[in-house]
Amino acid sequence: MKPPIFEYASPSTIAEAVSLLASRDGNAKVISGGQSLMPMLAFRLASPELLVDLKQLKDLNTIIIRDDGVRLGAKVRWCDIESDKRLDRSHPLLAEAIKHVAHYQVRNRGTVGGSLAHADPSAEMPGVTLTCDGLMTIVGSRGMRIEKASDFFIGPLTTSLEPDEIITEVHLPSWPADRRWAFREFARRKGDFAMAGVALFYDLDQENRAVDAHIGVIGVSDCPIRLTAAEAALNGNALTEETFSAVVAAAKGSIDPPSDIHASGAYRRALLGTLLGRGLHQSASRGETNASPI
Ligand SMILES: Cc1cc2nc3c(=O)[nH]c(=O)nc-3n(C[C@H](O)[C@H](O)[C@H](O)COP(=O)(O)OP(=O)(O)OC[C@H]3O[C@@H](n4cnc5c(N)ncnc54)[C@H](O)[C@@H]3O)c2cc1C
Repeated sequence: MKPPIFEYASPSTIAEAVSLLASRDGNAKVISGGQSLMPMLAFRLASPELLVDLKQLKDLNTIIIRDDGVRLGAKVRWCDIESDKRLDRSHPLLAEAIKHVAHYQVRNRGTVGGSLAHADPSAEMPGVTLTCDGLMTIVGSRGMRIEKASDFFIGPLTTSLEPDEIITEVHLPSWPADRRWAFREFARRKGDFAMAGVALFYDLDQENRAVDAHIGVIGVSDCPIRLTAAEAALNGNALTEETFSAVVAAAKGSIDPPSDIHASGAYRRALLGTLLGRGLHQSASRGETNASPI
C-alpha cells in the first residue's frame, strides 16, 4: 500500500523541530532514517498529519568517545558505527551487536535514535543500551531530560517519549579494556530481526570471580529486559561449567517468551538458553587478565 497523505517539514534546529511536533497535539511524527516509519505508514499502522524530518540537524550525527564512555548522536547510522574502528576497542559489545542489524541498504539509512524510539522488542540497539545502563538525552517542549534505558522501554513499540520529544543522544558508560563480554543472537536469515538474542558483560575480581554482571536479552519479551536472576547467579562466582549452567537455568526460569508465527515461546526459551551458554563460554576466553577460563 502507499502511505497516507501527510504534510512534511524539514526544520533546521532542534527547537524548531520540537515546536512543530508540539503544534499537532500528538499527530506529528519525527522521521529519521525512515526504515521503520515508512513501512508503518505503508501498512497504515501510523497516519500522522505531519512528518518532521531531522535531516538538517547536523549536530546529531557525531560519535564522541571520551573517558566517560561513548556518545552517539541520534542520527548516527548503523553504517557509521560499523565504519568507526575506534569502537572496536572503546565499545566492542556495541560494535559486535550492530553487525547483526538489518541489511546493507537499511544500514545506510537506519539510525540509533530511530531504533531506540521505535523500540522493537528484537532490535539490537535497545538491547545493548539497556544492558549497558545507557542514558538517553531527550529534548521536548518542557526542556531537556536524561532518561535511563531501564525507564525508557515500556512495552512493544512503546517508550516513555512524549509526542513532542526528540532523542538527541545516547550515552553508553565507559568500557574497561579487560572486561568479559559477548553478544549472541539467532535470526532465520542474516539481517532479519532476531528470534532471540543476548548481550552480556561482567568484570573479574582479584580471585577471578565475576562481578557487576549485566545480562540483557532481546526477542523474548515485550521489550528488551535484564535478567537479574541470571546476573545474581553469575556474580561472585568463578567462570566454571557449574556457574554457567546455573546462570542459564536462572535465565530460562525467568523469561516467558511469546509465541508467534516465527517461533513458539518454548523454542525461544530453549534458544535463549543456548545463546546465553555460548555467550558465557565466549566471554570467559576474552580479556587480558590471568584468569584461567574453562
Ligand atoms: C528489511 C528491514 C530489516 C530490519 N532489520 C532490523 C534488525 O535486524 N535489527 C534492528 O534493530 N532493526 C532492523 N530494522 C529496523 C532499522 O534498523 C530501522 O532503521 C530502525 O529501527 C529505525 O531507525 P530509522 O532511523 O530508520 O527510524 P525511522 O523509521 O525514521 O523512525 C522510527 C520511529 O522512531 C521515531 N524517531 C526517529 N528518530 C527519532 C528521534 N531522534 N527522536 C524521537 N523519535 C524518533 C519516528 O517518529 C518513528 O516512530 C530493519 C528494517 C528493515 C526495513
